[in-house]
Amino acid sequence: MSKIGTINQTKDTIRSSDFKVKKKFGQNFLIDQNILVNIVKIPSISKETLVIEIGPGLGGLTEHLIEKSAHVLAYEIDPDLVKILKNTFSEKDLTLINMDFLKCNIDEDIMKITRTFDKVILVANLPYYITTPIILKIIEESNIIKEITVMTQLEVAKRITSSPSTKDYNSLSVAIQYKTNAIIAMKVPRNAFIPAPNVDSAIVKLDVIDNIELKPKSESHFYNLVRASFVQRRKTLLNNIHAKYGLEKDKIVEYLQTLGLDPQIRAENLSVSDFIALSDFLLNLQIK
Ligand code: SAM
Repeated sequence: MSKIGTINQTKDTIRSSDFKVKKKFGQNFLIDQNILVNIVKIPSISKETLVIEIGPGLGGLTEHLIEKSAHVLAYEIDPDLVKILKNTFSEKDLTLINMDFLKCNIDEDIMKITRTFDKVILVANLPYYITTPIILKIIEESNIIKEITVMTQLEVAKRITSSPSTKDYNSLSVAIQYKTNAIIAMKVPRNAFIPAPNVDSAIVKLDVIDNIELKPKSESHFYNLVRASFVQRRKTLLNNIHAKYGLEKDKIVEYLQTLGLDPQIRAENLSVSDFIALSDFLLNLQIK
């Protein structure tokens, strides 16, 4: 299997009249060989590593992942692509699951592969219409995946990695930074794909934090509070909490002051640890 082979095959397949690119599945195929080579340098892969891929498409990235790892487990929603992938790769290298990743039980599927690996990581050029639910699913549901390297829209990559009190900081930044150390590893121009998307992209690397020092008493309460706090970004935290929990505003002012927070503060000014403290405080008062 030569590298150039898969890329040329990708281009030929996309141009052929039998294959229709499905926009509804967010299909933008990477066709720049240099970029693919550079992407697979970002994660820490060895010949002992199991790599999970979401949306292998026509296999451009998959080919490089197979070359560097022990095995690849991939989820592809499009049955037409699954047929092509099955003809391109052997089952020894690639376990292919034809399903919507959002519906899978990720850790159960990993456990079904009975070989031993040094670690399990995820590398993917994500379908952009479901980037956020995919990343949140991985960090909320998997206890096995330790590193996540994903292509997202540049704008989403900036949100994921942004700090409090900046314009890009939002609920996604808080949810992801609670569990991982996140960096933008590389920017990718739109012309590296067929068809070219309307926006530029970036590779984000998320290292799952092994022992999170500060944990909320209830992760689901914490995530719900974070989401609700950013519902109306321009409003104060006070107003968003009032809307979510129906508490009297005077009471909320008192709670915020108890936690050392300015009652006029906006969600974008709160750090991850501020949100954890607020979530625990509300939960202690049985405010859910
Ligand atoms: N990995 C290929 C590449 O880099 O050229 C294709 C990436 S393309 C941006 C996204 C891929 O995800 C497509 O192959 C698409 O069919 C697949 N996909 C879309 N939604 C999916 C889902 N819910 N579960 C699994 N795969 C999905």
